[in-house]
Amino acid sequence: MGKKIEYSNDELTIIWQPEVCQHAGICVKMLPQVYRPKERPWLRIENAPTDRLIAQINCCPSGALSYRMNTK
Ligand code: SF4
Repeated sequence: MGKKIEYSNDELTIIWQPEVCQHAGICVKMLPQVYRPKERPWLRIENAPTDRLIAQINCCPSGALSYRMNTK
């Protein structure tokens, strides 16, 4: 199993697999306020609403980004 890093807001958890990421930068182009590769943490989930995050994750070409809805 590769490494998985999770980022959560109230509704959603984004899972990022760095070993799968192709660094194509689609995420950075679509949501530059969220994906900030030069910063740590690089993924600022709080900077976009959940529906925008999901739409972007669905465009990740490598499958490095995925998500699940949080259960309470
Ligand atoms: S869109 Fe997906 S593959 Fe491309 S840089 Fe972002 S996480 Fe990596």
